[in-house]
Amino acid sequence: MNGMVINDDAPEYAYEIINDKMRPIAERLTAKYEEIGHVRPDRILFVLCRGKTGGKRIVLAKTLTISLKWQELLMQLGGEYAYMIEFYHKTTAMLSQNQMTALVYHELAHIGPEGDLVRHDTEDWWRMIAGMGRHWSYPDAGCPNLLAPDVDWKRLTGKGDDIRAAI
Ligand SMILES: [Zn+2]
Repeated sequence: MNGMVINDDAPEYAYEIINDKMRPIAERLTAKYEEIGHVRPDRILFVLCRGKTGGKRIVLAKTLTISLKWQELLMQLGGEYAYMIEFYHKTTAMLSQNQMTALVYHELAHIGPEGDLVRHDTEDWWRMIAGMGRHWSYPDAGCPNLLAPDVDWKRLTGKGDDIRAAI
């Protein structure tokens, strides 16, 4: 349970803001990994969704842009947000801390240098698969801690800066 729930009788929010939990991870990732260094974690609204994940596909998380209308409205409430990253409780509750960190990395990599959203056919997705294997997000899969000092894509993939050439 976290601090947003005022009393025990109150229902859990279907959409809960989890900035306190996720922003520190995002800040450490953007400080460490150059390719996501342009991302501003303080402009991201991190949300935990307890409802359906939508559709038949297993979805762990989703990165969305916040509409100009909602950006303005949120700004008037004191928040400056351009993006929202939704984590689906159903599919992420069993993930380890390392897997959650990897998931945050992956979602941050969806935010392009120009501010637009970029898709899976980019380098970030390749890095994920190459470095951690296709099943990196399975509950019992071993997943390295991307924030550990000795862990970097270069070591995980063994391909150095030429990773793009391997696609
Ligand atoms: Zn993705």
